[in-house]
Amino acid sequence: AAKIIDGKSVAKQIRDEIAGDIVKLKNATGIVPGLAVILVGSRKDSQTYVRNKKKACEAVGIMSYEANLPEDSTEEEVIKSITGFNNDPSVHGILVQLPLPRHMNEENILNSVGIEKDVDGFHPLNIGRLSMQGRDPLFVPCTPKGCMELLHRYGVEIKGKRAVVIGRSNIVGMPAALLLQRENATVSIVHSYTKNPEEITRQADIVISAVGVANLVRGSWIKPGAVVIDVGINPVDDAESPKGYRLVGDVCYEEACKVASAITPVPGGVGPMTIAMLLSNTLSSAKRIHNFQ
Ligand code: NAD
Repeated sequence: AAKIIDGKSVAKQIRDEIAGDIVKLKNATGIVPGLAVILVGSRKDSQTYVRNKKKACEAVGIMSYEANLPEDSTEEEVIKSITGFNNDPSVHGILVQLPLPRHMNEENILNSVGIEKDVDGFHPLNIGRLSMQGRDPLFVPCTPKGCMELLHRYGVEIKGKRAVVIGRSNIVGMPAALLLQRENATVSIVHSYTKNPEEITRQADIVISAVGVANLVRGSWIKPGAVVIDVGINPVDDAESPKGYRLVGDVCYEEACKVASAITPVPGGVGPMTIAMLLSNTLSSAKRIHNFQ
């Protein structure tokens, strides 16, 4: 059976390392890292994500700041709030909770986040640099960064290996493919128009799936011995669970376990890594802005 890649415990370890580093930074310079979160509207899921990010900040010693704007705000009002945080020296990271209300232009808003505080790594300049050889983004998007961190911490060799990324979203699939390529994997991207996705995926030594379809990736898609990182979070009906549903990934876990050499569970795999990477990006930002180490 495949080794389980325990994102929950790796994320805990990373949060402990971050908390220790924050104490050192504070003792040496008096500086406390700060993260500002901008939430527009009142989507329940977004509110939950923002609350969890705030709690995670507090637990490691990052100050969190929040701006809640009404659903019917104008783009200018959101940008004004971002500009305020850009100019605030106690804020080292700025995160705009997505999705934004439909009447807003996401690109204009993400463009207004100062790149040196773009801890989500969604600014077009940071994404552009991620895709260029010989350039480095100031920040890498948190979920794909968390996938890479899991591969690194489990000693998975990437250089020269074949990798397949399933899904090509701006926040997960596309940056995950770029990151694997930057570490010298040979990368293919499988998306909703790909013919024979199973045949292509079966060539991969490393599979990262970020689609949002339960059990899309069957055991037969996996090359024996491959490493599987499952980013998907999908609710499926479950009468036995108190909520009436449970969460599963994109990968049929029971089948893949029999073929893969290592796999992330859902939940407890990539999920906890995303917030850990956000905290890590915020700490690096504070260090960089204040020239620490
Ligand atoms: P998205 O909907 O923006 O993108 C999905 C991608 O999958 C698209 O590029 C699309 O082309 C591709 N796709 C759709 N159907 C396909 C198919 N049948 N075969 C191959 N490709 C197909 O989603 P996203 O924001 O990238 O999120 C993907 C999944 O990851 C979701 O389940 C989401 O909940 C989860 N997610 C988890 C975390 C985390 O922290 N663990 C973070 C972000 C997203």
